[in-house]
Amino acid sequence: MNYTKEIREIATRLLENEQVDMVMAWEKGDLEYQTVPFIARTVDEVSRIVCDEYSIHNLSNSLLRFRDGQEKIAIVVKGCDSRGVVRLLEDNQFSRERLYIIGVACPGVKDPLLAMKQNSGFEKVQDQDEGLASKCRYCLQPNPVIYDELVGEEQPLTELQERFARIEEIEQMSADERYKFFEDMISTCIRCYACRQVCVACNCRTCIFDETRPQWVGRETNISDNMMYHLIRASHMAGRCVECGECERVCPVNIPLMLINRKLIKDVNGFFGPYEAGMEYVEGRKPPLSVYKENDPDDFL
Ligand code: SF4
Ligand code: SF4
Ligand code: SF4
Repeated sequence: MNYTKEIREIATRLLENEQVDMVMAWEKGDLEYQTVPFIARTVDEVSRIVCDEYSIHNLSNSLLRFRDGQEKIAIVVKGCDSRGVVRLLEDNQFSRERLYIIGVACPGVKDPLLAMKQNSGFEKVQDQDEGLASKCRYCLQPNPVIYDELVGEEQPLTELQERFARIEEIEQMSADERYKFFEDMISTCIRCYACRQVCVACNCRTCIFDETRPQWVGRETNISDNMMYHLIRASHMAGRCVECGECERVCPVNIPLMLINRKLIKDVNGFFGPYEAGMEYVEGRKPPLSVYKENDPDDFL
């Protein structure tokens, strides 16, 4: 993927015409496989913009920094990122009028961490997918679902036979085996909260994990507090996770967080579906678990 030229042209036009106050995109880091988020506020800065095979960050989460402002913002989104924008619109965190969405049809991006390992001089990692990021192997929507302008040829949608395969295997375990599986999985969590920080669906102004009066979850990294953290976050993601894979990508200890997210997606789909979060923006429409009816069954409490 290389849409740098097209994105620069669009950004120049938007800034010159004063249609937007800034353009959220990416710029090149120090190394060939480093592409990092960047905001261009002037036409002079546009020459720093890139949109290439390492533009992996989902920029939609960055909009939260501007949610209380008035600026008009252009943002470049891949398919998965665009679902994050829908998440923010549905959650009333941003208004559509303040956005100019530049969609890019995405053939998949490469994993910079994998590239770094391959270039480190240490043991090379076996990779059959030519560096493709893990999240792109399960991509449901490579084309932006919401945009003002589209760059690139629409990508074919693929049938994801394997999407829930591992979830179904885990569902076959006994309750004790499952508990042990998840206990082992999260025992290495250092509670750095990177998964929360990067997540576009984690957009509460005050996060429950930061509250101290009352303190809902202890600050230690023991199994019990880790379990509480992941259970609470999972319940907050149900019906809201847009499957962008960013949480798993940034986890420094490689916890396979998409297993939790996909179990939620599978169940919400089963109970309320067919439903995929953030697949289209319909003004006023809410995710399944964000609305209630007075006659909703409540016999689980
Ligand atoms: S998950 Fe899909 S849209 Fe997102 S970067 Fe990968 S291929 Fe592109
Ligand atoms: S990013 Fe990983 S280590 Fe950090 S809190 Fe999340 S799961 Fe734990
Ligand atoms: S939980 Fe993970 S995959 Fe889901 S929206 Fe948040 S960062 Fe993306």
